[in-house]
Amino acid sequence: MRIILFFISLFIFSGILAQRKCGTVDYYNSMKSTLMVNGQPILQSNSSNARDPYSNEMISIPVVIHVLYNTAIQNISDAQIISQLQVLNEDFNKINKDTINTPSVFKQVAAACNISFCLAKLDAQGRTTTGIIRKYTSKTSFSIDDAMKYASSGGDDSWDCKKYLNIWICNLQSSTIGYSTPPNGQIDRDGVVIQYDCFGTTGNIKYPFNKGRTATHEIGHWLGLRHIWGDNICGSDGIDDTPNQSSCNFNCPSFPKLSDCSPNANGDMFMNFMDYTDDACMNMFSDGQKNLIRGLFSTNGPRNSFLYSFGCDSSLVESGATLPSDTIVNDVKKEPSILIFPNPAHFDLKVFGENGYQLMGKRISVFSTSGKLLITKRATANNANIDLSMLKPGLYLLKVEDDVSHKIMKFIKF
Ligand SMILES: [Zn+2]
Repeated sequence: MRIILFFISLFIFSGILAQRKCGTVDYYNSMKSTLMVNGQPILQSNSSNARDPYSNEMISIPVVIHVLYNTAIQNISDAQIISQLQVLNEDFNKINKDTINTPSVFKQVAAACNISFCLAKLDAQGRTTTGIIRKYTSKTSFSIDDAMKYASSGGDDSWDCKKYLNIWICNLQSSTIGYSTPPNGQIDRDGVVIQYDCFGTTGNIKYPFNKGRTATHEIGHWLGLRHIWGDNICGSDGIDDTPNQSSCNFNCPSFPKLSDCSPNANGDMFMNFMDYTDDACMNMFSDGQKNLIRGLFSTNGPRNSFLYSFGCDSSLVESGATLPSDTIVNDVKKEPSILIFPNPAHFDLKVFGENGYQLMGKRISVFSTSGKLLITKRATANNANIDLSMLKPGLYLLKVEDDVSHKIMKFIKF
């Protein structure tokens, strides 16, 4: 009996010890001098035709995962990584099943951020990729000094931080389970770092950080969110619809959780992803947080360049395919439009719906200038690839149509 009691108390004790520890604020403080470049956001697009996101536009973020392992157990599986992507796509779109646990008073301000994440399908050179890099490191653990972000210090170099969200998976010191850079930090170290056994929902994961919320929380920081208690006693996170609370909440409080500075009887929004509660107890972002996040993608926002990142587009994975660059984006009109490139084209013509134009489901046809139908296909995504190998060099017409409208463009095959 005593032995059983001993194990029960050990379990309870270890449960209390397992409190969330995010390194982001310590990181900001330690890196203050190097993070900011003249105080200006540095990740914004250089395109002269930068645009704002549409109100409900789904913003796609290509993700590259750098798995740095010193022992086999740290080399987490593809399945574990994929399970994390699933959590991100649920949490940032309010389709996580545990939204039913959000108290009704907070449900009114719970938000779908309309951000989606994919493992990158194209690397920065336009080559096919799994979006997962695995690398042995001789370092047994890392601190919050960014060593994991450089090959020269036992880590792995970032991919273009204007186009990819870089996530480093490694063994972190001092029970820190993750940290993030701010949205306007130094470019080659931009991204988030997550403890290897606090990532995803399957595989080698550690209770109570076994539901993928560490990455949701850290990417919240990457998208400009502060801790919900403002990192101060009764501090503010700068968001109107997240009530002030005296400090962070650990473990799993029950609603309502009142604190000294609760504005009303609803108390703390401890189930917010930006508190310190256990994975199983957090389930929402608020409308105010959503608005702050989406503001980062606006014309002059530090994450605007992601509106021009095509790393999620598998249709571009071709030998010799080149990624659309800012010079192509410069040709885009701000109204919904169809983008074709390259033009002139030799092997393939890529067709995109741009600025909210829905290409998916439309019929795409190629005609000779005398009106003879030569190629036809239906777009199964918001981009399509037309094989030109059967065509002789010359001028052709491309028609994109559905039942109610059509558009015709010229292109040259050489
Ligand atoms: Zn944090």
